[in-house]
Amino acid sequence: MAKEKKKYQVVVKKDLCKGCCLCVEFCKPQVLQTSENINQMGYNYAEVVDQKACTGCMICTLVCPDLVLEVYYE
Ligand code: SF4
Ligand code: SF4
Repeated sequence: MAKEKKKYQVVVKKDLCKGCCLCVEFCKPQVLQTSENINQMGYNYAEVVDQKACTGCMICTLVCPDLVLEVYYE
């Protein structure tokens, strides 16, 4: 029987994001990008653009200085 591909959900608490882009740079599958919109603090926040591509590597959560990102297993 073929193994089912695991699904992950990335959540960005956008109003806590200071738009440093570290997560965007470190996410190899390019799940994240910097939004053209700004958050409550006036920063272009990180947003999820390709949820299905997430491998659940958790690197984004490790590089974010402000604990803005959470990754869930669906
Ligand atoms: S868990 Fe890995 S693949 Fe998923 S968004 Fe974060 S860095 Fe990208
Ligand atoms: S690393 Fe954190 S603070 Fe920086 S852009 Fe990503 S979510 Fe925002």
